[in-house]
Amino acid sequence: MNKKGMLFVVSGPSGCGKGTVLGEILKDDRFYYSVSATTRSPREGERDGVNYHFLTREKFEELIGNGEMLEYAEYCGNYYGTPLTYIDKKLSEGKHVILEIEVQGAMNVRKLRDDAVLIFILPPSLKELRRRLEKRGTESAEVVEKRISAASEEIRTADKYDYIMINGELEKAVEDFRSIITAAEMYSGNNKYLIDEVLNDA
Ligand code: 5GP
Repeated sequence: MNKKGMLFVVSGPSGCGKGTVLGEILKDDRFYYSVSATTRSPREGERDGVNYHFLTREKFEELIGNGEMLEYAEYCGNYYGTPLTYIDKKLSEGKHVILEIEVQGAMNVRKLRDDAVLIFILPPSLKELRRRLEKRGTESAEVVEKRISAASEEIRTADKYDYIMINGELEKAVEDFRSIITAAEMYSGNNKYLIDEVLNDA
């Protein structure tokens, strides 16, 4: 039996290291990372179709109008959204689909797909988040402060997620993330078929 994959939604403030954790998780080809669409400009090194689908506002709005986005949100003046194209296809092929999206989008997915599993990645502390953002050195002190205050807001919504984990030490965070996946896979709602399988193998 080809069991359907599950939809995982991952959020966490900028600088919490969610990209690094997901980088490890995605080495396993049971997972499919959904490439989002955005109207923001590519950063140095970002590639169209790999990091994001970089679109104009007109094109993005056309996709919204055609019902081709699972969800979208406006964040810091730009649109970000999840194209529907591959999601159901990958799920029916048995892949776990991962959406890395901000909190408004995550709450919209929750309403649309009640079987989605929502995971929030916390930094160990705001102090540590500030240290990581400053170390990254890509933002001015003012922008770091803005991101820290945005982070406090985002962190306050973490209680709406199914799982909350901390990204302190990478190896431990990856292990924790894998444990969440395993727990979600064993959720009874997804495994009723096992009861019959066992009973029928008498
Ligand atoms: P960045 O500009 O730093 O790449 O992303 C800004 C924020 O937008 C991040 O929190 C990121 O997770 C979020 N984001 C990326 N793709 C999507 C998406 O498809 N939908 C929503 N709602 N948020 C997204």
